[in-house]
Amino acid sequence: MNLVAKLAPVTPAERDPRWTALVNRDPAFDGKFVYSVRTTGVYCRPTCPSRLAKPENIAFHADCAEAEKAGFRPCLRCRPNEASRAQRHAAIVADACRRIEASEELPALDALAGTAGISPYHFHRLFKSITGLTPKAYGVAHRAHRIRGHLSEGKGSVTEAIYDAGFSSSSRFYETSNKVLGMTPSAFRAGGVEAEIKFAIAECSLGAILVATSGKGVCAILLGDDPDALARDLQDKFPKANLIGGDAEFEALVSKVVGFVEAPAIGLDLPLDLRGTAFQERVWQALRDIPAGETASYSQIATRIGAPRAVRAVAQACAANAIAVAIPCHRVVRHDGGLSGYRWGVERKRALLQRESGV
Ligand SMILES: [Zn+2]
Repeated sequence: MNLVAKLAPVTPAERDPRWTALVNRDPAFDGKFVYSVRTTGVYCRPTCPSRLAKPENIAFHADCAEAEKAGFRPCLRCRPNEASRAQRHAAIVADACRRIEASEELPALDALAGTAGISPYHFHRLFKSITGLTPKAYGVAHRAHRIRGHLSEGKGSVTEAIYDAGFSSSSRFYETSNKVLGMTPSAFRAGGVEAEIKFAIAECSLGAILVATSGKGVCAILLGDDPDALARDLQDKFPKANLIGGDAEFEALVSKVVGFVEAPAIGLDLPLDLRGTAFQERVWQALRDIPAGETASYSQIATRIGAPRAVRAVAQACAANAIAVAIPCHRVVRHDGGLSGYRWGVERKRALLQRESGV
């Protein structure tokens, strides 16, 4: 008897590297691809709880559009064309954060939960699991500036209120910043790189925070104790750029970034303008792939970018990161789990990691 002849041939689906993710219903691949089933005409997420079809009937697609173009319709069970549960939850929490930030008084838990359309109990748990803070603690952190600031309670906008440490109002700050920064004349970089950078300095629970954007996106998030030092740091980073104090419109963006820094797990849906070497950008991308609540070592990052011997260069790329929290270099720790250094101070790194681990 010929055993070999009786074995089923290996199908193209089984040869596909995505097959293992599918068999394991690996949630890490949710959103990375979908698969279709020829016999039912339906396409699914890799995590669909339905019984797995025979491999000879399965094909992989990069996304929903590709599957639909091939004539398949979305599965009604896993709804691959809708936001995933995790995305929906993140959106609920992000929305609640914006509401808390925008209100004078902390909104009632019932009201926040009602808007989200879930029970107060469920809402509270969800909020805490994603931000690491209770809604109340989040509100308190966001309002820390009101206690510390010079501005009278309830007056002025968020950004005005959070200018602190020597800047009694935003207009005064702009005057000062012009002096500090000298308003270097517009100097376009070779290659036509965007040379105008808007920035503002605010305050968050981690201290002073500087947010800067180019025409392409957020190009710097700097943390520190001294607003002047942050402004000088920005100038050093972008010596040729024309640095402009942010205006009233910029304020909405700054408060969004501050909200994100208070609760990194909610994500920041703003484009980033990365300015590094190709190697640095690979490292930064690998950092962005570390989920909130997890850490990686320098050598793990080196391995992930396919340069296992470049541990030192990885550490240098982390140190060169100018976009705090959004490029989460704070999630890189020493091999033994020790915190090692952090460009913006090891205490801030500890606070961020504690927040993300939900402690
Ligand atoms: Zn499905």
